[in-house]
Amino acid sequence: MPTSINPTSGEVIKEYPLLENSAIGPAITATEQAHRKWRATPFNLRSNELKAAARVLRRNSDLYARLMAEEMGKPVGQGRAEIEKCAWACDYYADHAATFLQPEPVETDGFRSQVTFQPLGVVLAVMPWNFPFWQVFRFAAPALMAGNGVLLKHASNVPGCALAIEEVFREAGLPEHLFRTLMIHSQQVKAVLRNKRVAAVTLTGSTEAGRAIAQTAGRLLKKSVLELGGSDPYLILEDADLDRAARICATSRLINSGQSCIAAKRFIVVASVKEAFEEKLIPAMKAAVMGDPLKERTTMGPMARRNLRDELHRQVQASLKAGARCLMGGGIPEGPGAFYPPTVLTDVTRRMPAFREELFGPVAAIISAKNRRDAVKLANDSSYGLGAAVFTRDTALGEEIATTELEAGNCFVNDFVKSDPRLPFGGIKESGYGRELSHYGIKEFTNIKTVVMKQ
Ligand code: NAP
Repeated sequence: MPTSINPTSGEVIKEYPLLENSAIGPAITATEQAHRKWRATPFNLRSNELKAAARVLRRNSDLYARLMAEEMGKPVGQGRAEIEKCAWACDYYADHAATFLQPEPVETDGFRSQVTFQPLGVVLAVMPWNFPFWQVFRFAAPALMAGNGVLLKHASNVPGCALAIEEVFREAGLPEHLFRTLMIHSQQVKAVLRNKRVAAVTLTGSTEAGRAIAQTAGRLLKKSVLELGGSDPYLILEDADLDRAARICATSRLINSGQSCIAAKRFIVVASVKEAFEEKLIPAMKAAVMGDPLKERTTMGPMARRNLRDELHRQVQASLKAGARCLMGGGIPEGPGAFYPPTVLTDVTRRMPAFREELFGPVAAIISAKNRRDAVKLANDSSYGLGAAVFTRDTALGEEIATTELEAGNCFVNDFVKSDPRLPFGGIKESGYGRELSHYGIKEFTNIKTVVMKQ
């Protein structure tokens, strides 16, 4: 049963009943019918609705930030920033969708030939809890602007957020049922996908969940987009500005209590500057203010669930047993909350969980590289390929490494990896396939249709 449990106190806030199996079919039909009308609605009217959704988000920002703090532990300041980013995505696609999806003329032997972009239909979105609003809006804003309908199956620990998002679109005036939250169990997802009225699926979550969805979608030959996990490498080269690198690395590792797919996870440092980097990273990690996410001064709340915290601790312990050294943190604090302190492991090597697995919490893994070529080799020695960053004063070299050498979907030089509505976002290898955001993202759930005219 979807349940809100406050990760700061461990208290159950509310349990939500699951949608009966018999109610799922009619819900899908209602969304499909709403989509049929919506796809015939001109872009300017769709834009008005999305702009209204942005206004609802901004108006209720404090409320939604509080909801996220209570359901998954995000500090309210970061929650408000997340809501602002959702509003930005709504505005961005309201302003640009018509241009992105304009028919493209092509010269052929027809008197007129063009590529057009038609909505696919109803898209099922299976979403994670870590950015409970942003993950949904970065998919839904372009999908809706393209004329699709949306069914949301949100993570079972953020049901309050799932219903609040449905309410945003209702309050904004979008057609009833066009965006629908289905309060279902993950085991019911396959049945939804099998429904002939569901055209496609997108999943943001773990590689394991992605594999399960891709299998079903593959068998049904339905389009899928997968945004999965990562173990992003941050390369610190010999000539890097270490103060800046340490500050940015700590920020990227600790944001959202380290529970971000594109958080810095593996710090691959050229041996000659490793110690100096460690000396700067530790105070930057210690500067985090861990505590109640409802307090304004808190920069790091608890992790979202105790089982996730316990799994992170297991990975830390296994890495220490295999020879890593703990420079700070590494212990579970007393108390009912799902807190885990900022932690730095060093001398991490290939065979350790801190290298091979995704550490979805505030644990930095420092890995020593012989030189810059070795650093790139270590970075690419991963089943993941989501984000990566390089720190160097030689920006031409940084650009070369980012562009041609690193195996990842999003590479930044002298900054941390972040998503932005203007830029495509997604991974390669086991981090998934397809792209969200920018003009690439809006086309994922369209039929790229060729139309050739002859007299
Ligand atoms: P998760 O356990 O995979 O859950 C994600 C969603 O998938 C939830 O709604 C979950 O439902 C559902 N789900 C899980 N197993 C399923 C299955 N077999 N069939 C159908 N649905 C299933 O992931 P999480 O713990 O919520 O999120 C953390 C992971 O997401 C990390 O690996 C992180 O890196 C990744 N992530 C990736 C991105 C990206 O953009 N690449 C962004 C954010 C997070 P229940 O909650 O009901 O189990």
